[in-house]
Amino acid sequence: MSFSELSSEFSALSLPAFRAKQVWQWIQEKGVMSFDLMTNLSKDLREKLKDEFIICGCEVEKKSVSALDSTVKYLFKLYDGEFIESVLMKYKYGYSLCVSTQVGCRMNCAFCATGVGGFVRNLNASEILSQIHAAQNDMNIRVSHIVLMGMGEPMDNYDNVIKFLKLVNDDTGLNLGMRNISLSTCGIIPGIEKLAKEDLQLTLSVSLHAPNDEIRSRLMPVNRKYGVDELLKACKAYADRTSRRISYEYAMFGGVNDTDECAKELAEKLKGTLAHINLIPANDVTESGLKSSTPERIKRFAQILENSGRNVTVRRSLGGDIDASCGQLRSKHTKNA
Ligand code: SAH
Repeated sequence: MSFSELSSEFSALSLPAFRAKQVWQWIQEKGVMSFDLMTNLSKDLREKLKDEFIICGCEVEKKSVSALDSTVKYLFKLYDGEFIESVLMKYKYGYSLCVSTQVGCRMNCAFCATGVGGFVRNLNASEILSQIHAAQNDMNIRVSHIVLMGMGEPMDNYDNVIKFLKLVNDDTGLNLGMRNISLSTCGIIPGIEKLAKEDLQLTLSVSLHAPNDEIRSRLMPVNRKYGVDELLKACKAYADRTSRRISYEYAMFGGVNDTDECAKELAEKLKGTLAHINLIPANDVTESGLKSSTPERIKRFAQILENSGRNVTVRRSLGGDIDASCGQLRSKHTKNA
């Protein structure tokens, strides 16, 4: 709930306004997920609140720490026994958390582990937010950057994601700046069009992974509905409206999308737009049969883009030893396990 929603709920229960403020502070500032811990409320009030509300938060079920780079992967348990994963990464500029937006995913990209388990349900705004609080409280740190690149497709859970963005940005809550947030989508055009109108200063990342429909439809079923050219048109309109540079993610699969021709076609299609291309060495997902391109291939691909005047970087992979890298998130826990 936003503060005003919480306030009207409290007023409907004839509770004084300052009580709503206290509960808001416990949840939004401190990330406290149980009424029992709200020690400035009377016992009677805590019981009443427990009868009326549930706090949909994340409980740490399991935590894995990478021996390579200290990346932390969390398995969080939700109020209904479902599980999601989040990944905490340490950079020079601070801590970045990769959060999930759904339990599972409907998109079924050929290379991604999350799709394998199918779709279970959307996360509500509170469950997305709570991933940050849970990581902060566990590590005793402040998260400064958020990427919506965990399990799920944010545009397939649009309203909850927008509500989350407003909550995390609230200056009486975590007060995290929109410029420190990246939202990644597989390319759901109506979502991109809607987001453009929200006028948020976040970074939109688009998982492109191929310069044409032939290759992209093989990798990403969503492309059969929203093809490459139509998608790039929507992205250009987004960049024009928001004046924000779009980040295009391009996972590199050996012999599939990593040829010189692909690089040239990509450079051509992104000509004249505010774009940054982020090449991702693909991570192995056993079921897919797809393999990463070689480092030499990735270098050559980046060089072609650069020579054509495109802005390009290669993503550093973190947490490879704990299955925490891009596309490896998948809750192997099930309700009855
Ligand atoms: N659904 C959103 C966000 C989650 S995936 C999206 O599609 O953008 C976050 C990023 O990881 C996406 O760019 C996705 O395509 C990429 N990814 C998924 N599986 C991967 C893999 N095996 N190797 C490298 N990147 C992968």
